[in-house]
Amino acid sequence: MSEKRDTETGRCFVCKREFSYDPKEVTTFLIDPETGLPPGFSVLGTLRPAKPEAVARSTDQPLCPGCQARAEQYAEAMEAPPPRWESWPPTGQ
Ligand SMILES: [Zn+2]
Repeated sequence: MSEKRDTETGRCFVCKREFSYDPKEVTTFLIDPETGLPPGFSVLGTLRPAKPEAVARSTDQPLCPGCQARAEQYAEAMEAPPPRWESWPPTGQ
């Protein structure tokens, strides 16, 4: 009996490294292809209201475990609550 795991290979949007992940468990971020950042983030790292068109053209990109750990450390260092990604509107709907 071979247990087939449902894994996919993708490219981390932060470090551009290819990695395998389980689509059901991987952390994904909505990324605006024009800026390479989540809609609402500026290149200066400041927050601004996400424009509907920016959200509409954005796609979910996987985040590798290494970058996820770094992002969590960064959030702790800033002593700020993590952004609530799930509150963003879904794409293409
Ligand atoms: Zn990464």
